[in-house]
Amino acid sequence: MYNFSAGPGVLAKEVIEKAQKDLVNFNGSGISIMEASHRGKVYEPVHNDCVALFKELMNIPDNYEVLFVQGGASTQFEAVPLNLLKNGKADYIVTGNFAKKAYKEAQKYGDVVAAASSEDKNFTYIPAFDKASFRDGIDYVHCTSNNTIFGTKMNVFPEVDTLVCDMSSNILSEVVDVGKFGVIYAGAQKNISCAGLTVVIVRKDLLDRAMPICPTMLKWSTQAKDNSLYNTPPCFSIYIADLTLNWLKSIGGIPAIQRINEEKAKMLYDFIDNSDFYTNPVNPADRSMMNVPFVSPNAELDAEFCKNAEANGIMAIKGHRLVGGMRASIYNAMPVEGVKHLIEYMKKFELEHK
Ligand code: PMP
Repeated sequence: MYNFSAGPGVLAKEVIEKAQKDLVNFNGSGISIMEASHRGKVYEPVHNDCVALFKELMNIPDNYEVLFVQGGASTQFEAVPLNLLKNGKADYIVTGNFAKKAYKEAQKYGDVVAAASSEDKNFTYIPAFDKASFRDGIDYVHCTSNNTIFGTKMNVFPEVDTLVCDMSSNILSEVVDVGKFGVIYAGAQKNISCAGLTVVIVRKDLLDRAMPICPTMLKWSTQAKDNSLYNTPPCFSIYIADLTLNWLKSIGGIPAIQRINEEKAKMLYDFIDNSDFYTNPVNPADRSMMNVPFVSPNAELDAEFCKNAEANGIMAIKGHRLVGGMRASIYNAMPVEGVKHLIEYMKKFELEHK
């Protein structure tokens, strides 16, 4: 079965098999990693290895902290303004449903406007922006690098002092220059791990800007001071993240997975573009490498496509309700064979229904 779920998404087979082996007796400790104290010698090396691997694989400069928090990327929608709105002003780039949620949440805390938006065309493109798009005196600009529901990706980022980016659905999928961002955050359940963990990568000089009302648990400095062990972290999800990062390192790190991701995405988009049966609604220059929405000639056929998919070894291919049709999420752990398998099913379905 190939799992095209948008998240929680596919994990590397090697990661699941290793977790299965470790589950009862972790590293000869005699206990499961799920039972280990977050301050004990069984869990501690996993936690620290995971932080170190994020730094190594993403080439994170020394003036950044890697934090492990909970509450999903959605909780960061409020944590971002609460941690950064020192002067009470921020600009948002609204490129999708989650970007809009982040924007709406921030509006509760200050003077927050949309500097650019693609809502006029149901988020099928990335809106243009330049230096003049952003106001003077803002605390930060917020953007979303990959729009999971609509299948768009930002290729150019605003050049501002403090850029905050929700990278939930494409972190670790391609090389990024972390130094260009003030804050990167991501829910783990796509390219990092199973659900439960949220990763926040924050430039250290931004840790003292929190609004006085910022709750202790949402304050990044709380976790930064304590190596993300202020309270009980999501240990199991961090353990799976550590396995995933070790797997990623073993196959050549982010540059290697980027080449594979480019190959998978090209294969699928080329097939769609060369077909007169399937279409992708996204502006070609803004296409996501992780989430590929597509439709057949009508909604009845879309429903039929999804209905028959599981019997053909394809899981969770139905598109999001805001877009309809189908969506193939082809995260890091989706093998090239999975995409080939999907294309074979698409060909077969087309022949049967044309
Ligand atoms: N941002 C993006 C880009 C997402 O894809 C998602 C979830 N699919 C979220 C935020 C929300 O994440 P969570 O469910 O972890 O709160």
